[in-house]
Amino acid sequence: MDMIGELLAGRLRDPQNGECLTVPVKRVVIEKSLAQSEADLITGLDLPAPFAVVSDYNTYEALGRRVESALAGRGVISIRLPGRPHPDEQTAARVMAAGAKAGSYIAVGSGTINDLTKFSAAQQGKRCAVFATAPSMNGYTSVNVAITMGGHKKSLPAVAPEGVFCDLSVLAAAPVRLIRAGFGDAICRSTAQADWYMAHRLRGSAYRSLPFSLFADLEDAMVEGAGTLTRGDSEAIGVLTRVLVLSGFGMTICGGSYPASQGEHLISHYIEMMGSHDDDAPLHGEQIAVTTLVMARLQEALLAGAPPRLKASSVTLAGLTSHFGDALGRECMVEIMPKLLTETQADELNEKLERVWPSLTGDLGRMMRPARQIEAALGRCGAPTGYAGLGLTHDFFANAVAHAREIRNRYTFLDVAADSRRLEPERYIA
Ligand SMILES: [Zn+2]
Repeated sequence: MDMIGELLAGRLRDPQNGECLTVPVKRVVIEKSLAQSEADLITGLDLPAPFAVVSDYNTYEALGRRVESALAGRGVISIRLPGRPHPDEQTAARVMAAGAKAGSYIAVGSGTINDLTKFSAAQQGKRCAVFATAPSMNGYTSVNVAITMGGHKKSLPAVAPEGVFCDLSVLAAAPVRLIRAGFGDAICRSTAQADWYMAHRLRGSAYRSLPFSLFADLEDAMVEGAGTLTRGDSEAIGVLTRVLVLSGFGMTICGGSYPASQGEHLISHYIEMMGSHDDDAPLHGEQIAVTTLVMARLQEALLAGAPPRLKASSVTLAGLTSHFGDALGRECMVEIMPKLLTETQADELNEKLERVWPSLTGDLGRMMRPARQIEAALGRCGAPTGYAGLGLTHDFFANAVAHAREIRNRYTFLDVAADSRRLEPERYIA
């Protein structure tokens, strides 16, 4: 079934409550080529001119020039950002200053350009659309952006692009690192779902199966096509693009990143918080490729055999401040306090684990993709499978796995592993 079309037409219902699902995006077009139709696509959205077209030097060459010349007759403010732009408040300010007189914004790019554009549009109360240039992440259809403010990466509300336009011949010609990154950001469905479902069964937090049912039928094809993704195969790129678009819709529908961001994303957040920020730092999806594999191995290890025996959490403020520094350590303590276990809570959870173990492991077994399958698929598309492929040292990455759970109040298998004293990074990062 064409889930994107059904969703945009308002014909999909939530299986859990029967309600019609709605998303703020009006139109998604994914075609082999969009040449000659750029202006019509924008006209169809009725966006006000002049258009502030935001690109960087690479995305301008890939597609920006084409979009700008197609719209030239209606007024274009060309905003071309130099180098590898960063999604931070300074760059956003630059975009907003240049686009102040625009009627609406059009992003031509992927992660950073998309975030800067959606953020700028939201700040100025303008509408926007995006022409994608790489299938590199699942944020095209999400309403949140990641912007660094005062040195801290923040997830902030933004406007959704009204149109998301994907020319597969452009996406298939994107730099291979970006394509591999997109595959990484998509393959984490398995570990994210397992974490989210486990937290629901064990701790009673909310869970929805809907976001996963949106692309369940596409994921196998995506994994099978992994080997042809970086060889210009627009068929395989189309499948990956649809998965990423639907993954973004899943987050929008759930009002949070839960279905696509759990333990594997916590490890990545740690890498971004504590690692270097050079221009050659690993891309988000490259990190997720590696951290998904770690989480898949860890989940499999914990689910094999008898239920884990939880103990009171051993996290202390002194431990956090010595690892993260005073200010950040204190922030972490406040953030994760709600998920830390007392001895009584650990005992209660142990009783529950005994009770639900057969059905929990059965359900999770049906959701999870085996770690060796994930590793093979990453290998086929040439994505990194270990910390060395991200340019990280063994010790830094081992610390990332060991301390990732301490930065956010999201209960994942990293917590189960830590509280059962089985969080042994060495076992999962080799
Ligand atoms: Zn992600």
